[in-house]
Amino acid sequence: MPARSARLLLGAPIAAEIRQAVAEDVASYRERVGRAPALAVVIIGRDAPSMVYLRQILKGCEKAGIDGRLVEIGDDASEKAVVEAIAALNADPTVTGIIVQMPLPPAIRLRAVVDAIDPAKDIDGIHPLNAGLLRLGYDGFLPATAHAAVEILRRSGIEIEGRRATVVGRSAVVGMPAAFLLVRENATVTVCHSRTRDLRHHVKDAEILVVAAGHAGLITGDMLRRGVVVVDVGINVVDGNVVGDVDFESARSVASAITPVPGGVGPLTNALLLAHLVRAAQAQEANAAASGGGFGTCRAGSIRGTSARRPAASRGVP
Ligand code: NAP
Repeated sequence: MPARSARLLLGAPIAAEIRQAVAEDVASYRERVGRAPALAVVIIGRDAPSMVYLRQILKGCEKAGIDGRLVEIGDDASEKAVVEAIAALNADPTVTGIIVQMPLPPAIRLRAVVDAIDPAKDIDGIHPLNAGLLRLGYDGFLPATAHAAVEILRRSGIEIEGRRATVVGRSAVVGMPAAFLLVRENATVTVCHSRTRDLRHHVKDAEILVVAAGHAGLITGDMLRRGVVVVDVGINVVDGNVVGDVDFESARSVASAITPVPGGVGPLTNALLLAHLVRAAQAQEANAAASGGGFGTCRAGSIRGTSARRPAASRGVP
């Protein structure tokens, strides 16, 4: 009898739906406000490893009618100069959202950069205010990758409520926010990390498994419970090929559903980032109208309204 093969959870069709809604929301925003929402992509040094990813985002902006702006800062820039550049973007009423290339050069502290971004423009949810809102179960901006990891389950009709979910990885940008989102969806969640004593046990227990460790082949089919749903967030390059953290071939005959790498979480991440931008644009527009003036700067605390009017692009998104 041929081995059973898991259903593939593909990101591209869901991403296409989201992009279409984003483009529509952008067009109507443009009509109302007279300009496109703008995403500032801050890079520090041209040789940044994330350059390819950032270029993809800018391409996505162009297709959706969003004003994508590359803000280049020399790799010899001081932390103060980077923080000042972000402050200028915060103060610019034509800038809707800000993302910063990661990882940062060693001389620049992550905390300094994260704190510098106006939470109302923090569309990748890295500011402590947005992280806190997620922790408390309120609306804020979600880290796009963690959002994509859970959204691919929701939009693929996978039941989350009441199921045992294991998340491998506890980073502030992927593992932990994915775990909080799964709790919000009423899963019972275990978080594993590099000091977890019996990873195999926790992986075997999972009915839903989200892996974000950054280690190719960390999870193999023999570690999985039959019928598990696997979301592989990992991106690793092995012999010139992009692979996830899950050994796809051995896992697909045990799992009931699995996200491929590439083609799973990745495409959805970029689309959701643009959906977050649309949401920021509409919240800023609502705030400006409420304060009776033009678009002022949106300082911390003025995140009020991020959920006031849900754009089509993020409707149904938690
Ligand atoms: P990270 O900051 O390096 O965090 C990795 C996490 O995995 C840490 O919590 C670490 O534990 C844990 N870990 C490492 N080795 C482990 C092991 N052997 N057993 C159990 N846990 C282990 O990485 P990240 O930024 O969260 O990214 C995770 C992966 O997602 C990477 O492959 C990255 O490239 C990928 N990614 C994908 C997208 C996308 O759009 N698909 C976007 C961003 C990132 P400790 O906390 O104990 O160190």
